Amino acid sequence: MTPRSLHDFTLPDLERRFAESGVGPTHARELFQHLHRRLATNLTEQSRFLPPLQRWIAANYTHDSLPLDVPEVVTETISTDGRTRKYLLKMEDGNAVETVLMGYPGRFTACLSTQVGCAMGCVFCATGQMGFTRHLRPGEIVAQALHAQRELTKLNGEKLRNLVLMGMGEPLHNFTAVMQALSILTDSRGLGIAPSKISISTVGHVPGIRQLAAQPQRYHLAVSLHGATDEERSALIPVNKRWPLAELLAACREYSVSTGEKVFIAWTMIAGKNDTTQHAAKLAEILHGMKVQVNLIPLNLTDGYTGMTTDQRTVEEFQRILLAANIPTTVRQRRGIDVDAGCGQLSMRRERGAVVSVANA
Ligand code: SAH
Ligand code: SF4
Repeated sequence: MTPRSLHDFTLPDLERRFAESGVGPTHARELFQHLHRRLATNLTEQSRFLPPLQRWIAANYTHDSLPLDVPEVVTETISTDGRTRKYLLKMEDGNAVETVLMGYPGRFTACLSTQVGCAMGCVFCATGQMGFTRHLRPGEIVAQALHAQRELTKLNGEKLRNLVLMGMGEPLHNFTAVMQALSILTDSRGLGIAPSKISISTVGHVPGIRQLAAQPQRYHLAVSLHGATDEERSALIPVNKRWPLAELLAACREYSVSTGEKVFIAWTMIAGKNDTTQHAAKLAEILHGMKVQVNLIPLNLTDGYTGMTTDQRTVEEFQRILLAANIPTTVRQRRGIDVDAGCGQLSMRRERGAVVSVANA
């Protein structure tokens, strides 16, 4: 992958590239901190490293503009309780992705996108309904977290401590860029987010799960299961045909054995489709003996899918059955629903409810 912007580089990459052009490592560190700690949106503020950096840019880039990833905020949508903010961010080539900032004082989480659209085609998901446009570069993933931190700094000065890769796209389908972005985001000379505060959610991309297990860093892994038989799962998640349940569950077991970590199982509950007591019993059966924690997510409605949300009582009954089978099970809080910022609602298609402000208008 060829880096296109200065936000694409890890600090060691930057040092190496600078060294190749005879620019000292101090300049690389200065630049990295300028971008990732001081959250700079341009390079003119910090003139002292400009001459060597300018020489390096001139030697490595053909265009005049300084190559940074500072996406344009197209819209900002704030939920009625003020705790969820969704940003539509436009990238350099005009494509846009959504980033969500969720929080309570002391605990802010940014939900990042990893692709423009998604190739996995899950029927209940607005991003899946859009199809796939392209992968995001590391700098474009990093830029979303930097944007969230800039917003937090403006709002209340708090530090962003948690990241979830649960926005648009399938993170493990864009493995190299995602890993590079996380190396940048966890660097203590930048945002310095602890790996233990980062969750990667996957549709069940089996080769990606194996690659993730082989990485030195430990992030949390969440697997979107949603069906406990191949027939039912394939109807919701077409790529189940490529990586069927037996293979996926084997990869999850291997992941726990080799990393010592539990795997979070996401279960989006859809009325009548996967939320009955029989479904709960079947799920408990296939997860038996695994190191897992189940997270139940009531379906968020999207335009392209007719499925309905499971009611609260049915969710609780489902949870009770799993708990009785000794499977730790939580119910995910429903956040950002009134601004279509809930899981699977990111589609860039419409804005409704709440406050919408259009930047640069
Ligand atoms: N591609 C990854 C991460 C992005 S989706 C994945 O699929 O895991 C993040 C989570 O939102 C997944 O668990 C996904 O199944 C869930 N999701 C998608 N559409 C949803 C919807 N309409 N309602 C509730 N959850 C949804
Ligand atoms: Fe892609 Fe995840 Fe949506 Fe499936 S649920 S279409 S994998 S973003």
